[in-house]
Amino acid sequence: MTELPGRRLLLVHAHPDDESINNGVTMARYAAEGAHVTLVTCTLGERGEVIPPGLAHLSGAALGGHRRGELADAMRALGVDDFRLLGGPGRFADSGMMGLSDNDDPGCLWQADVDAAAALLVDVVREVRPQVLVTYDPDGGYGHPDHIQAHRIAMRAVELAAEAGCPVAKVYWNRVPRSHAEAAFARLRDELPGLPFEKAAGVQDVPGVVDDAVITTGIHGEGTPYAAAKAAAMRAHATQITVAEPYFALSNDLAQPLLTTEYYELVRGERGDVGADGRESDLFAGITTAPGSGVAS
Ligand SMILES: [Zn+2]
Repeated sequence: MTELPGRRLLLVHAHPDDESINNGVTMARYAAEGAHVTLVTCTLGERGEVIPPGLAHLSGAALGGHRRGELADAMRALGVDDFRLLGGPGRFADSGMMGLSDNDDPGCLWQADVDAAAALLVDVVREVRPQVLVTYDPDGGYGHPDHIQAHRIAMRAVELAAEAGCPVAKVYWNRVPRSHAEAAFARLRDELPGLPFEKAAGVQDVPGVVDDAVITTGIHGEGTPYAAAKAAAMRAHATQITVAEPYFALSNDLAQPLLTTEYYELVRGERGDVGADGRESDLFAGITTAPGSGVAS
């Protein structure tokens, strides 16, 4: 048994790329600070649309394998070496966008039994014993079935782990404060003529946007190496993302801001010390950490 660092963070995501878009700054910061950062991704995203024409031939398992490589490159950029696929690679297939017949594929994540999938995540919790878990809100941020299911699996795993004597002290959902998103899109609209994107997305296209009052925590990356690490990690997901800092686009080619401050809503656990803005600036605020035993990957 190898001793893990005192602070341990677990992130639960649906597809390769979600972790870098939502939490790249956060992951880079805690990895750099010596925390143990674990990413669990539920599917390989093999139903994602491919952006580069030279890779357009990739689909299904071939795309999943390619995206696994992109994920490894992204994790290298963030300094994270513990990243896993829930139940192993290919255990759960990408469910496709909501309403498609892909949702009925018996092997897809949307069709997975939540308790059984959560049990696989509990194994990770028992091994790593994270004090902090990050995942999506109940709508998965924007209604994608795999994101909704990742949320359900993560929240159920927190319950099951607590029953097994392995409580997670704090649980956060990915969020974006509305005022921040609106300001960033206003800037984007001004700068769009000089960008390699023809059109801009809108605030409604950003997952997890909520009233500012809902936000409990902000991890600030502006002017730090973590912002550059996040952009590099997003760039590694080249089949899914086009990056032109400080903006990016998904396969719909609509420009959106690359957010270098990442915001959260604390939904379980006690809020720690807050700053002048009334928010925590550390996911581990208020947690007394001690080294935990476990098998380091
Ligand atoms: Zn996703």
